[in-house]
Amino acid sequence: MRIEEIPASPKKPKVTRVAAYARVSSDKDAAFHSLEAQTEYYQNYIAAHPDWELVAIYSDNGISSKTINEIAAILTSMGVLTPAGRTKWSVSTVRSILSNEKYKGEALLQKTFTVDYLTKEVRKNNGEVPSVRVRNSHEPIIEPEVFDRVQEILAESTKRRAKVRTKHPFAGRLICGDCGSFYGHKVWRLRSTGERYNVWYCNHKYDGDKACESPRLRDEEVKEAFEKMLQKYGDSNPVYTDERWNKLVESVKVCRGGHLIFTLTEDRVVKVTL
Ligand SMILES: [Zn+2]
Repeated sequence: MRIEEIPASPKKPKVTRVAAYARVSSDKDAAFHSLEAQTEYYQNYIAAHPDWELVAIYSDNGISSKTINEIAAILTSMGVLTPAGRTKWSVSTVRSILSNEKYKGEALLQKTFTVDYLTKEVRKNNGEVPSVRVRNSHEPIIEPEVFDRVQEILAESTKRRAKVRTKHPFAGRLICGDCGSFYGHKVWRLRSTGERYNVWYCNHKYDGDKACESPRLRDEEVKEAFEKMLQKYGDSNPVYTDERWNKLVESVKVCRGGHLIFTLTEDRVVKVTL
C-alpha cells in the first residue's frame, strides 16, 4: 500500500472584477464631473480595494444615448462576466441590473414568497404579500436621481417596445436554425374552404445555394410549441396568450425536424419538439 500525501493548495484570494461607467452630464457644475475627474475617482476607488480588479472604465456622454442591446454588446466585447459567470450578456441581465434597487442603496425585502411550503414553490411577489423597502440600507453606488431616471427610461422603452409589438407577436422572434435569419409570414389560403392562415418561414429560405430546411410553421403550431414549453417549464396553466408570449419569449430558434429552442427573457433555454 502506498500512501501519497497531497499538500493543501493555498487558497487563491477571490478577486472581484469591476468595471466603471463614467458619464458626463450637461450640468453647470461640470468641473467636478468631468470625464477625467470621474475616471480618476474610479481608478482610485477601485485601487483602494485590494481584492478588486479593474476591467475597464467605460465612458459616455449621457445615459439615454445607449440602448440596452448596445450595453449588452459592449460588456460582452469587454470580456466582463455576467453575474452568473457567463461571457455573453443578454438584454434581460443588463435590464435586471439597471433596475436593481440595491445599487441605489435600497433593499427590497420579500421580493419572492413561498406559495406552498410542501412543494417549496416560490413566486415573485407582485403584491400578494407585503414587501418592505429599506432606504439607505447600505452605501449607494449610483446616485438615486440617476437610478430613478434610468427607471423612467426603461419604462418608456418598454412602452415603445409594446407598441412595436402590436404588429404580430411572432415578428422578429422566430429565427431560422439553418441561416440565422428572422422568420417572416405570408397569408395562405386553403383552396377548398377559403380559410386563411399565417405561415411563418425563413425570410431568406431561398437565398443560399440550398434552401433552408427549417420548417414552415402556422400560428397554431407556434402557439402549440409555446404551450409545450410552458409545460416543460412546470407552468400550472400552460395556455398561450399574446401577453405571456411577449413577456416570456426573447427568441425562438426553429430547427430542422420541428425542434424549437426557446430563449426566455429570464435567460432560460427550453427545447421542445413539435
Ligand atoms: Zn434560413
